[in-house]
Amino acid sequence: MKLMIRESLLAKLSEASQVFILTDENVAPLWLPEVKSGLGCENAVDIIIKPGEPYKNLQTVQQIWETLMHHHADRNTLFINVGGGVITDLGGFAASTYKRGIKFLNIPTTLLAMVDAAIGGKTGIDFGGGKNQIGTFAEAEEVLVDPMFLKTLPQRELLSGLAEMIKCGFIADADLLNLNLENYPQFIKRAGDIKREIVAKDPKEKGLRKILNFGHTLGHAIESYCLTTDAPLLHGEAVAMGMGAALWLSVKQCGLDEKVLRDYEKQLPMLLAESRNQLKEAEVEPIMDYLVHDKKNRGEKPQFVLLEAVGRPVWDIPVDTSIIRESLKYIIGRI
Ligand code: ADP
Ligand code: ZN
Repeated sequence: MKLMIRESLLAKLSEASQVFILTDENVAPLWLPEVKSGLGCENAVDIIIKPGEPYKNLQTVQQIWETLMHHHADRNTLFINVGGGVITDLGGFAASTYKRGIKFLNIPTTLLAMVDAAIGGKTGIDFGGGKNQIGTFAEAEEVLVDPMFLKTLPQRELLSGLAEMIKCGFIADADLLNLNLENYPQFIKRAGDIKREIVAKDPKEKGLRKILNFGHTLGHAIESYCLTTDAPLLHGEAVAMGMGAALWLSVKQCGLDEKVLRDYEKQLPMLLAESRNQLKEAEVEPIMDYLVHDKKNRGEKPQFVLLEAVGRPVWDIPVDTSIIRESLKYIIGRI
């Protein structure tokens, strides 16, 4: 199997004074040799960190900066992130701050990173108990998407990425609403392009870019709450539930055709495969507590991205907590 590389990338590689590759302990044995030989950079310095969100922190960034310093990395260094969203967020942050920023490249190896995390110029680490609290806006030189990496990705991780692709369907393109584990590869590029187009119009999230947060207001609250239990959910699983609640709210408040909600309810069991029946009605209150503390909300009422129709999102919609609670109860009763 060969990595698909553009000419422009080869030029960047040959111009670089040194090349560093950041990846994690799961991805390294599976794909690092392939990536290095594919890019023709066998001499690159490897930085291999422990996998998972708990390591997306300042300590790991410090370790990366120290490695760069140790090797006298200058401003013509090329930094390559090979991994899921944790790696692209973290590596992008370390690269964009080292000597006020060196060039970096994203090679996403999870579906979620291919269609979402690796695109759009947001980098970050978790800090002070919150996700992505410290970060930069910094664009990768290139994002090299190659579905071959997905051969080794566990199915649950694949479904988590599928949820973000379906999100693109709701906000921008109905063709992406009928995705499943068979047909999704042909839509990876479309989902990434939707994100790119939205980010190009509003890179700093002053307005329009917020539509990418469809399903995320409650999704983040569900994800944060579940991280405190012994059954954490993947990001996409929490967003899949959040989207269900947001569709219910859209029917109530924005005149969304109820059929959109009904159709999605039929898809949810597939998306949630391993996390069905995990949430109970008793957990509505602790999730609501997380929602009220969510950083994205200003003022009294939490704000939502809702749909007037598929492809017609509206944002900054304040919703009463009592109605949000109902939407959450509704969706928990359906999964
Ligand atoms: P994301 O935010 O994209 O879901 P993570 O960086 O948390 O990403 O990756 C999810 C998990 O999948 C991690 O444990 C990571 O090591 C692992 N992983 C990433 N890419 C692959 C791959 N291609 N094959 C197998 N496991 C992978
Ligand atoms: Zn997301």
